[in-house]
Amino acid sequence: MAKYTPMIEQYLNVKAQAQDAFLFFRLGDFYEMFFDDAVLAAKELEITLTGREGGGDEKIPMCGVPYHSAENYIQRLIEKGYKVAICEQMDDPAVTKGMVRREIVRVVTPGTVMEGKALGDRSNNYMVCITESSGMLALAACDLSTGELYLTSAPYSEEWLMDEVNIYEPSEMIGDGRLLDLVAARNPVTGRKVVYTAWDKAKDDLVRQQFGEAEWARTSTERRVCVSRLLAYLHETQKRSLGQLTSISTYEPNHFMILDPFTRRNLELVETVRERSKKGSLLWLLDRTETSMGSRLLRRWIDKPLLSRSAIEERLEAVDKLYHQFILREDVRGQLKDIYDLERLVGRIAFGNANARDLLALKLSLVRIPELKQLCSESPSATLRHIADSMDECADLRSEIELAIADEPPVSVREGGLIKPGYHQRLDELREASVNGKRWIAELEAKERGVTGIRSLKIGYNKVFGYYIEVTKSNISALPEGRYERKQTLANAERYITPELKEKETLILEAEDQMVDLEYSLFSDLRAKLNSDIQRLQKLAEQVAEIDVYQSLASVSAERGFVKPEITDGYDFKVEQGRHPVVEAVMKDGGFIANATGLEKAAARILLITGPNMAGKSTYMRQVALIAIMAQIGCFVPAAKAEVPILDRIFTRIGAADDLIGGQSTFMVEMADIQVMTEKATARSLIIIDELGRGTSTSEGMAIAQAVIEYVHDKIGCKALVSTHFHELAHLEDSLGSLCNYSMAVQESGDKVNFLRKLIPGAASSSYGIYCARLAGLPDVIINRANGLLTGFEQAAAQVTAGVEAAAGEAVVEAQEMHAAVWQHASDRKHIVGNQVNETVVQLSMFSEE
Ligand code: ADP
Repeated sequence: MAKYTPMIEQYLNVKAQAQDAFLFFRLGDFYEMFFDDAVLAAKELEITLTGREGGGDEKIPMCGVPYHSAENYIQRLIEKGYKVAICEQMDDPAVTKGMVRREIVRVVTPGTVMEGKALGDRSNNYMVCITESSGMLALAACDLSTGELYLTSAPYSEEWLMDEVNIYEPSEMIGDGRLLDLVAARNPVTGRKVVYTAWDKAKDDLVRQQFGEAEWARTSTERRVCVSRLLAYLHETQKRSLGQLTSISTYEPNHFMILDPFTRRNLELVETVRERSKKGSLLWLLDRTETSMGSRLLRRWIDKPLLSRSAIEERLEAVDKLYHQFILREDVRGQLKDIYDLERLVGRIAFGNANARDLLALKLSLVRIPELKQLCSESPSATLRHIADSMDECADLRSEIELAIADEPPVSVREGGLIKPGYHQRLDELREASVNGKRWIAELEAKERGVTGIRSLKIGYNKVFGYYIEVTKSNISALPEGRYERKQTLANAERYITPELKEKETLILEAEDQMVDLEYSLFSDLRAKLNSDIQRLQKLAEQVAEIDVYQSLASVSAERGFVKPEITDGYDFKVEQGRHPVVEAVMKDGGFIANATGLEKAAARILLITGPNMAGKSTYMRQVALIAIMAQIGCFVPAAKAEVPILDRIFTRIGAADDLIGGQSTFMVEMADIQVMTEKATARSLIIIDELGRGTSTSEGMAIAQAVIEYVHDKIGCKALVSTHFHELAHLEDSLGSLCNYSMAVQESGDKVNFLRKLIPGAASSSYGIYCARLAGLPDVIINRANGLLTGFEQAAAQVTAGVEAAAGEAVVEAQEMHAAVWQHASDRKHIVGNQVNETVVQLSMFSEE
């Protein structure tokens, strides 16, 4: 094997520790990469790949980035889903004989970034650890940039695991390899890039140190396993104390409404199905927060609607008061507007990378707190007053920063200019010395001009020669002999020094060096002091975020005319004049048609909704689910009046997300979802199924649809909205006591259909498939042919019926069977033609989009 140079040997040793991360190997002013790392990094970062002799037979591939701009390159690799290990020189090369020691000081991974674009302001960046022990699954989710750490567990259930992982949308996952494989295989649902690392090292002692023995004692075994592994990983990659992780937020899964990943996507809670953008989602509509922490908290609330009536009512109370008090709301917004991202600022303080501007931002935020607190404590809302009562203004921390930090500090903390005058005596003295020295030098210029009579004489400074006296060549003869020592010759001038100039210069430069060092140390002391008070700041950040979410919900509710829902522990779900909040908001003409909902134990629990395509069925069903979710997060709802029972789960089976699951047929996916539904739904759940039973033959689809509806009706007993194009299912109303037929009203005039978007009792008479085909612009030939076929099928069925009726006595039974068969055939044909027409519609619309 080739023998490498000692430097390359050192590189290889360190690289062995970095494993799957790119190794940024510090060599002077560059971070260099070698071998395969270099080849891949050159491609990913679009930088030049070179080679270097390293003692082997061939040149070693190499590429590098300057250390001062490394941050940007690191971020780009992280965004692409890589990890980067940063290896620094641990000795000063200037004073080291031989090779300097090099060590990895931090591994940056997608789930542990502390800065840059990978961290969206208004979203969290979670790292999730999943583990299994003795039949239990545990999940720990941590956002290192904000210091949040959540921990939960449940009996083994893959569905539960997927639901929970989906909520955090992690950028990185660690834990049991088998579980990671499972999640990775099903991840197409979120479609996000996730970095997975199987990880089984655990560090119990770290958890106990970090969160205390009492917390450890409270934590169940499976949760301990999970959080210890997470901490071990963070420790191994970050290689420093993680002071921002001050507490563990433990929660029980059954404290929140359960929404599976499909339902969350179908209802477009935090992003839209098509563009995957926040715009157009429920979060987008409700987000009027003024702070980033408020925005992140709002998202957490939407992700986890509550199940406790008192907790929901507490939130609604604050929203209600802010809703009705416009001035209070505006005042609160006014204070929040100037509050920076406290969570992330505090995260940087703990991580040790906060600069003076961060501290200044912290101070400017703290300045707003007393007024915000007062607004809350004087408000009519008990919830807000309760927050104000326990709000620590952190006034001591504010005045510390106020006294110490300059009003316009630089980004760098190593170049001075951070600390205010009057904060520290020695610093003031050094500044005085430096200022005096500079003044003396400025005066010297005038003095020297006087003595020499050279009016163009000037005093300058550069880094190499320090202060000098510059005289143009034509004036040199006017200089007195002896006193000036020549230092540098330029094209048309000479530069001199004098002993007294050098003496002052030493004084000034020494003072400046000391000043920079002293400022840095004063700054670090202050940062450490703040670090020791981190918990207080984190608590304050949480409170500010909560107030912000209340004002956000109140602002949207007031603006959009939402009403306070009445939350009940009962069964009935009654809405008057309900609307779909987002569809309504994006409709320009304000023409949204409101519809009532009544899902009641004593009357109808299941609504079977028929109506043509485009009639508004799925919008209506989504609207019902959204009203329930909004109510359970503590928001007002788009209705004239709403009585909302607490739902433990919402299942939706709505078409939109089908195309996302490669390789599985729509029908299989539908059946798998229905299976989960039958297993997990309780009487307190809401089930929504759009177009139940499509994707297989008519008779089979209809049979399955009927069987599923019967099961939901008889066995589960929950509330359900089911839409179908099988009008034949309308007869279920006769046999199922709690099922009611509804349809979306349409008005026919001639061969035109007008969609009224009004939900009315009773089943629809026809599906108007051919009408839709005409609307979509299909050629007349097809439309006419389809109409002709349809009439033919209907006549055939009618003739059979007539024939049967004419037949006598014993022939009746036989004839009825025949009727059924022909009718079925006609219906199948109609459906097939309908499907063909639909396909053509889709193709045509694709053409027209192109
Ligand atoms: P379906 O599920 O019956 O095919 P959709 O719910 O997709 O119909 O609705 C079709 C279109 O009708 C939607 O894009 C929406 O813009 C509009 N729409 C639906 N419901 C309403 C309503 N209540 N008021 C006004 N427009 C509506």
